[in-house]
Amino acid sequence: MSRDGGSGSGGADGTAAPRPVIGLEIHCQMTSLKSKLFCPCRADYRGMGPNENVCPVCMGMPGTLPRLNAEAVRKGTMIAMALGCAIPERISFFRKNYFYPDLPKNFQITQLDMYGDTCIGGRGSILVDGGAVGIRRVQLEEDPGRMIYEGASARNRISLVDYNRAGTPLVEIVTEPDFEGPRQLRLFLQMLSDMVENLGVCNPALEGAMRADANVSLEGGNRVEIKNISSFHDLEKAVVFEIARQEAQHSRDLEVVQETRHWDAARKITIPSRLKEEEKGYRYLLEADIPWVRIDAETVESLRSRMPESVSEKRERFVSLYMIPPQVADVLSSDKLYSDLFDAARTDRNARELANIITTDLMGLVMAAAATAPAADRDAADGGDAQKKKRDDAASDVISVDGLRELADAVASGNMARNSAKQALHEMAKTGKSFAEVSSEMDLGLVSDESELLGVVQSVISEEPQAAKQASSNPNTVNYLVGKVMQKTRGKADPQVTLDLLKRCLSEG
Ligand SMILES: [Zn+2]
Repeated sequence: MSRDGGSGSGGADGTAAPRPVIGLEIHCQMTSLKSKLFCPCRADYRGMGPNENVCPVCMGMPGTLPRLNAEAVRKGTMIAMALGCAIPERISFFRKNYFYPDLPKNFQITQLDMYGDTCIGGRGSILVDGGAVGIRRVQLEEDPGRMIYEGASARNRISLVDYNRAGTPLVEIVTEPDFEGPRQLRLFLQMLSDMVENLGVCNPALEGAMRADANVSLEGGNRVEIKNISSFHDLEKAVVFEIARQEAQHSRDLEVVQETRHWDAARKITIPSRLKEEEKGYRYLLEADIPWVRIDAETVESLRSRMPESVSEKRERFVSLYMIPPQVADVLSSDKLYSDLFDAARTDRNARELANIITTDLMGLVMAAAATAPAADRDAADGGDAQKKKRDDAASDVISVDGLRELADAVASGNMARNSAKQALHEMAKTGKSFAEVSSEMDLGLVSDESELLGVVQSVISEEPQAAKQASSNPNTVNYLVGKVMQKTRGKADPQVTLDLLKRCLSEG
């Protein structure tokens, strides 16, 4: 891993703006855990009444002691390993002191590399869109509570506080400022979102489960931190806006002020934040109530062996083992629903056709089915999670694993043309019938009987004398005639038999 700073490629004449420098801090809730990071309250606080999911520990009552959730340490280690980080021999926790009403203890328990590497992971690197993105550290910490503001206007607002979320386990991922631009940023976030879902740590579709802050500067200039970004889509827009704003400042010879800015999603701009926070103001202290935790080599090895196949490993397997084209493998591997379906319906010979059917026809059908499916009552509350569930349900309504396997087998063995397979898939989705029923009813089988095809081939040759003449002298042009036979048989003619017949008839004629 190289981290030597200067790229040396900046324009020195002062006319072009310096290169943007972008880094990220991503907070990811460990939504799959049963309990909070330091107490037995539920980690899943969603849908509960205000302040129902609290206890003396997460409320910071005097005399209570935190008890570290071991599963959070294991899952955090897995994320760190997946990001290519070094795992320290032991980890420690720190108190980050600040006052805010959503923080019952007046400090947040988090991690820091103050006495050597004691965060759950660090110094990692991951390849995104052909460029390496460094991971400075991965740390475990607790989420604060939530502030809710009510009232008709800013003047008579009431602030309510709900501590149900206080103490929920988070993993914070801090990257190096390595991003080359918004595209790499977007691909990284997508990759990370797939990764934590694939590891079974986090359900990114839940509202607020993944949140990010961005640090943006122009090389050599002051750094601006953008906070309060609720979606990855907005994060990209905020970064694009902030780069443009800083470049405009630079072109007018104005210095960029080092500050925290908030993303105003309605106006689509970043605005200065009134809150001023500085690292040294947090008075970090070692959290003496939690002993140092040793992470031995055996634990790391056993966690490594339990880690599911990563999205990039899956993509690699699809390409090298089943000869699936890389673009198709990209689409297939990055979506758990479809890659699971692929692995379930895959046989030794149907893999390529199966991947083709899933990515070209099935995905569109499932999307259409999910869009028309009636919305469940809990949709509004569950947000993205409910939508995802709706899509997954729609997929199992559209086709069964067996149906998909039979369809791909038929195409792979040459018994059905791709075009007919598409029709059969639509029919199975519409009627819920089995593959056997649909293929016999629709007469979709591939015609490979020579005597059946001979008549069609002969009529095409007599209807296209010019093309036939050309094909006899230049066999490379015969595909035009194959296409005509396909047209006449509505795509059901076996291409190889058709080609053989055409060649034979042309050489005889
Ligand atoms: Zn609690």
